[in-house]
Amino acid sequence: MSKFWSETVKGITPYVPGEQPGVGQVIKLNTNENPYPPSARVLDAMKAAVSGRLKLYPDPECRGLREAAADYYRLPIENIFAGNGSDEILAFCFKAFFNPGETILFPDITYSFYEVYAGLFDIPYRKIPLDDHFDIPLAPFFEQNGGILIANPNAPTGKFTSLDSIRQILVHNPDKVVIIDEAYVDFGGESCVSLIPDHPNLLVVHTFSKSRSLAGLRIGLAMGQTELIEGLNRVKNSFNSYPLDAVAQVGGEQSLRDTETFELNVGRIIKTREDTVNRLRELQFDVLDSRANFIFATHPGVPAVRLFEALRRQDIIVRYFAKPRIDNYLRISIGTDEEMEALCRALEGILAEQT
Ligand code: PMP
Repeated sequence: MSKFWSETVKGITPYVPGEQPGVGQVIKLNTNENPYPPSARVLDAMKAAVSGRLKLYPDPECRGLREAAADYYRLPIENIFAGNGSDEILAFCFKAFFNPGETILFPDITYSFYEVYAGLFDIPYRKIPLDDHFDIPLAPFFEQNGGILIANPNAPTGKFTSLDSIRQILVHNPDKVVIIDEAYVDFGGESCVSLIPDHPNLLVVHTFSKSRSLAGLRIGLAMGQTELIEGLNRVKNSFNSYPLDAVAQVGGEQSLRDTETFELNVGRIIKTREDTVNRLRELQFDVLDSRANFIFATHPGVPAVRLFEALRRQDIIVRYFAKPRIDNYLRISIGTDEEMEALCRALEGILAEQT
């Protein structure tokens, strides 16, 4: 604690991201990255930008990227906002749409950054407990609030909330912004981007870090009616009027144009996920139904923390959260088939020793 820190900074507990060891040293299944590299088309465009564009400032409006997003999502370009990863966009949302006197709502078990941002921006919040199946209950989101934030699919559970439920939440909150963080939606969920034309209070946030293999570049998008996008632009222009660097802008643009590679990789990951779920269930794990590029699993015989530590000793890193209700679960990102095979074999060995 330092006397130089503001009261806000003294009060926050910073988010601690998953371990990031050197490439190639371990099997890394802890931060939900894509195991496949970006396509040649994306890499070539970025190389050209490195040699040709770096002496100039990037386009502050990210037009190429936003035009590609407009084509991909079938929305007008005015309905699209680009930021440095969805984390930055979420931070902007707290400034743009929530007020210090009004309590916002988000699920009790969800992406832990929401709580960090609420602290950072002095926004009061209420955490709504998930039901017995780890699903998001609807009724509490119909109560009075200062705004709503929901990850769909949720993290770290991977569970999906239906578009009909999202629609009900939107209808009950016509005067409040409802942010749907769809970081993992490409892995089998259904995007609520289609609801934007009918719901001026809906903002959908996407990331290029998961399904698009570009976590290292930091690209996120927000989609919503122009009124909401203008709110974000006001915040952006006050914090950082050049949101994405020139290389990220062209990489992101080409990723959106290269639907073939995107669909191929997403399809592979979904198939590997289903195979892994089956394998883990054979090993008696209880695995939640996932629509994400990770699975959330618990074993009746061995505490999750022991599994986590035993895997770590074998250079396999998964995610363990020492938090109430989920402290007996592991979150395992979906890697390549070979990586998941190594994980399942390691778990088989650990279970044989410990049960
Ligand atoms: N939302 C959720 C639900 C996430 O799990 C993550 C990644 N940890 C993010 C947003 C942030 O993603 P980005 O890399 O785009 O900042």
